[in-house]
Amino acid sequence: MQDATLPRPALLGIDLGTTNSLIAVWQDGRAQLIPNALGDVLTPSVVSLDEDDSILVGKAARARLTTHPERTVAAFKRFMGSDKRLELGGRSFSPEELSALVIGSLKQDAEAFLGHPVQEAVISVPAYFSDEQRKRTLFAAELAGLTVSRLINEPTAAAMAYGLHEQKFERTLIFDLGGGTFDVTVLEYALPLIEVHASTGDNFLGGEDFTEALLQACLKDWQLTPAQIDAQGMASLGDALEQFKCKLADGTQSLSWRHEDRSYAWTLDEALALKIWEPLLARLRAPIEQALRDARLKPRDLDSLVLVGGATRMPAVQQMVATLFGRLPYRHLDPDTIVALGAATQAACKARDGAIEELILTDVCPYTLGISTSRGEQVSGAFSPIIERNTVIPTSRVQQFYTTHPHQAFIRIAVYQGERPWVRDNIFIDSFDVPLTPSEQIQSLDVRFSYDINGLLEVDVTLLASGERHSHSIDRSPTGLDAQSRQASHERLTALKIHPRDALPNRTLLARLERAWMQSLGDERERIADWLDTFTAVLGGQQPTEIASHRTQLNKALDQLRL
Ligand code: AMP
Repeated sequence: MQDATLPRPALLGIDLGTTNSLIAVWQDGRAQLIPNALGDVLTPSVVSLDEDDSILVGKAARARLTTHPERTVAAFKRFMGSDKRLELGGRSFSPEELSALVIGSLKQDAEAFLGHPVQEAVISVPAYFSDEQRKRTLFAAELAGLTVSRLINEPTAAAMAYGLHEQKFERTLIFDLGGGTFDVTVLEYALPLIEVHASTGDNFLGGEDFTEALLQACLKDWQLTPAQIDAQGMASLGDALEQFKCKLADGTQSLSWRHEDRSYAWTLDEALALKIWEPLLARLRAPIEQALRDARLKPRDLDSLVLVGGATRMPAVQQMVATLFGRLPYRHLDPDTIVALGAATQAACKARDGAIEELILTDVCPYTLGISTSRGEQVSGAFSPIIERNTVIPTSRVQQFYTTHPHQAFIRIAVYQGERPWVRDNIFIDSFDVPLTPSEQIQSLDVRFSYDINGLLEVDVTLLASGERHSHSIDRSPTGLDAQSRQASHERLTALKIHPRDALPNRTLLARLERAWMQSLGDERERIADWLDTFTAVLGGQQPTEIASHRTQLNKALDQLRL
């Protein structure tokens, strides 16, 4: 029973994106986005180490990607679940530690907005995230001091927000192309039921790859190799190309870039962009075809098509989708914010908030899970599926297996995920040994996989002769997130100094001015140097109203220069 005198826990949803992250709250019967210290709802998923060794997250950090690339990291979600460490001013961090810093910053924004501490949130993950990637996301939240009440698949979160908004859809395909991941989900609305039929995707394909392809193409045209350019030069070119890509929707664009006293120019029109991106556009097709096949639908059977994720703003992507489906996609809701709003909607459903009790969601496991087995005497390493992809979750499936020879002392259960017939081509998840009482006989055993609503797996093995049962939750990964490394992460983050939230608007403007100075030349550069000096002097005066008015003016002036 809940104590009526305590405030109800806030119903929060977090979209932890490769490029940007957002937090939303369910309040007054609807999902609302929470602004950060700068008043923006999008917080860039970028972390930087300031000169005073304090951590900066968000827009200030993003500006420093260009000016201080060796002290700044972005797009670390791409490495979630791997052993990769990212360098930040001589210190090294895991992707989940960096994600924890982003979640921590969103948590602070929510606390400032709501006026009380928050403990719990629904967090969205790409539908195609593996068991390990989901676990690392849970750990990132734990490091930030948040309990995850549920992990929700990003396209499913978008579907929830759309479901509330547009009640007329039936069979829908959600095409979700973010900064680093691609998900396709086919679902059916029979409100209050939202039923996911199939989910597929590619964890290594997103808008960042389109920017990278442009980078490779222009370097080739300029006959330069990345090795000839220093880190700051690469960062400024990457930044310029990112902005260039986002402006392509307005027609042919020209890029100019200076490096070591030489100027480089590059012009790109729609036809050339399509040629450069052709291999990436082709990779988008396979998951779409598979999702439709698994849902047993043809493109014409769909009632609607919804685009989610910032990279669906690219005309080339919209055209590809329109051609493939022979219709225009639906994108009335903002593709950048829809996932966070859906995650907060899910938090409300979970808490059975009066305004939303109605909506019921069923999701699927997007990939096949199974174990390594032998076929006959000779052939080992075959993949035996236990839960097939696109099975409705939560689910529990069991299959019987046999020992391969008499007097066997143990049996190794090696769990894999994937769609290929040999385990060597699939993703290894975990393995453990079950001891046997050696016997003359071939022994039989049941292997049960239970996959929960958060996409996490548990394995039970029962030896049929004795009834002996061995349970194993897959929590110790092959890459080794053991208790010791968890503790080390906690200690590393506790020791960090986080830049004060109140000081962020000024710090962000300074970082932005520094970047603008670097990106400009001649008169424009002089003007920016003046602004930088003036703002530094105003900050020294410590007059809050004067600082705020200069800040507004200078941010506006930089907006006008598109810097
Ligand atoms: P998300 O992870 O959903 O925030 O998507 C981020 C990706 O969307 C990044 O790769 C951005 O470059 C890309 N993006 C955002 N806006 C645009 C735009 N107007 N045109 C092209 N790509 C965009």
